[in-house]
Amino acid sequence: MAYQNELERLRELEKYAILDTSSEESFDRITRIAQKIMDVPIALITLVDEKRQWFLSKQGITFDETPREISFCTHAIQKDQPFIVHDATQDERFKHNPMVTEAPNVQFYAGIPLKSALGYNLGTLCVIDTKPRDISLDEIDILRDLASIVIDEIELRTIATQDFLTGMLRRQSFMLKANQEMLRAIRYDTNFSIIAIDIDHFKSVNDRYGHATGDLVLRKIADICRSTLREIDVPARFGGEEFIILLPQTDQHDAMIVAERIRKMIEKLVVEDSGNTVTVTTSLGVVDRITCGKNDINSILNMADDRLYEAKANGRNTIVPIIGQCDSSN
Ligand code: GH3
Ligand code: MG
Ligand code: MG
Repeated sequence: MAYQNELERLRELEKYAILDTSSEESFDRITRIAQKIMDVPIALITLVDEKRQWFLSKQGITFDETPREISFCTHAIQKDQPFIVHDATQDERFKHNPMVTEAPNVQFYAGIPLKSALGYNLGTLCVIDTKPRDISLDEIDILRDLASIVIDEIELRTIATQDFLTGMLRRQSFMLKANQEMLRAIRYDTNFSIIAIDIDHFKSVNDRYGHATGDLVLRKIADICRSTLREIDVPARFGGEEFIILLPQTDQHDAMIVAERIRKMIEKLVVEDSGNTVTVTTSLGVVDRITCGKNDINSILNMADDRLYEAKANGRNTIVPIIGQCDSSN
């Protein structure tokens, strides 16, 4: 099957960062309503990823995803209209599909595309029955309204957790994740590192080239951070021109390698904007949980910040790690 605008659509889906998140009551509430109103055994909110469809919320099934090639929703997101199959066993496109011939034995399917603000269909709100059936126009209207609530919820969540300019997590959502990582690290006795990054003399970039060019530099630096990290790492925009990266299961030695890579890539970055050529450098502080011996995230962030300010004092465009145990003043 050839998909339209597929690369752009997948990139858009990735920006929402909702794939593989844990189940949430506000989405489950919507699938429960759909299931009851339609009187069907299965109601799902699906997100169609490159090779799979993943369920943001599910009623009536126990698995979390299915391969994309056997998914009904892949068909549903090709159009902007509701996609209805009254009896899949009689439909040439689906009658040999394992979703039909085996459990969950889909026969009736109705899916409403979930269209993002930029116009990409991310997935569907869909209901499924194990026997053939019809659907009324009123029922379709109800499903459409529920699908709009789903997409509004997804958009609002993104606004609340992500920084608009860089697409990185904001401070508050970072803190939630960092606290979870702290609990996990204590429980399993694992390490994690924090890299604190601050752009050097960024005020003069704004003063010389204008705020819009400054914004572009911030975005390019966010891209560099993202491109060099693993999926489990957590980068965030912590303040104006300050970034924090949490590296799970990473000690200071390995975090220094990542930090050095980022420092070098930023040093080499050339941003062309409105006829100007802009380069910047950064100062970085690196600490890991076990070396600094603290079990609360704020203390660790403060230590990373202290190291960052040492890097500033040492002439900028450099990295300062914790060496050995922290001193008692920390
Ligand atoms: P230092 O090397 O000591 O960090 O110097 P600095 O100029 O980077 O530090 P300072 O904290 O004095 O200035 C930070 C600047 O970052 C000031 C502010 O205009 C700029 N800034 C903060 N947020 C944004 C933003 O969203 N966009 C742009 N373009 N600039 C921002
Ligand atoms: Mg700063
Ligand atoms: Mg700065």
